[in-house]
Amino acid sequence: MLTNTGVEQNLVEVRQRIDQAIARSKRDPRTVRLLAVSKTQPVLRLEEAYQAGQRAFAENRVQEWMEKAPVLPNDCEWHLVGRLQTNKVKFLDQNIAMIHSLDRYSLLEALNKHGERCAKTWTTLVQVNIARDPAKAGLLPEEVPDFLTSIRDYPHILVRGFMTIGALEASSLETQGFFQQLRELRDTLQSRKWPGVDLRELSMGMSRDFELAIEEGATLVRVGRQIFGERN
Ligand SMILES: *Cc1c(COP(=O)(O)O)cnc(C)c1O
Repeated sequence: MLTNTGVEQNLVEVRQRIDQAIARSKRDPRTVRLLAVSKTQPVLRLEEAYQAGQRAFAENRVQEWMEKAPVLPNDCEWHLVGRLQTNKVKFLDQNIAMIHSLDRYSLLEALNKHGERCAKTWTTLVQVNIARDPAKAGLLPEEVPDFLTSIRDYPHILVRGFMTIGALEASSLETQGFFQQLRELRDTLQSRKWPGVDLRELSMGMSRDFELAIEEGATLVRVGRQIFGERN
């Protein structure tokens, strides 16, 4: 399934598959964006992706983002995915476009404090453990409404939607079910008006399931190996 050709060719293929999934689901192409998950990849590979027109990148470790971001052209857009430790929050700056892994109150607290210090309002997604996988981070669906209510007390936080990671062992039918549940949760909660909350984004779908995710309403797909090859 994973190709060994260059990053540019892989990107062309991924974009084609994205376009096809968009067409199948009769969605507006402008509502789906590809994030290249570049964790563990050397800068050279990111530069190849940049040459091929990719601008939005996602890293899962603050340290790696700090090393790579200054080397890439400054019109790149940086997303953070994966668990964010509160003691790393102080390193974040204006260059972070979106944090996909807001999954607990202590992180909300730390981000808000740091936002106050550097006059930045963070654009975030609430990570939801829709598969109820005990090994995964994220709020359980029933915990989400209270969490969104609390956002009004944190003026340096904007919530722009939800993120989830499909279960590794799940069949494609189960995965589709999880994506559908996340979209339904979003649709249900969207009508409630919470200050600082606007649930327009759904970050779901990775190399193994991004087409399914698009068919279920993903607005951001996070693709790593299918673009860069296997990680070491
Ligand atoms: C690594 C990672 C991805 C990308 O996974 P691939 O299987 O390489 O596409 C997406 N989302 C998160 C949160 C990740 O940690």
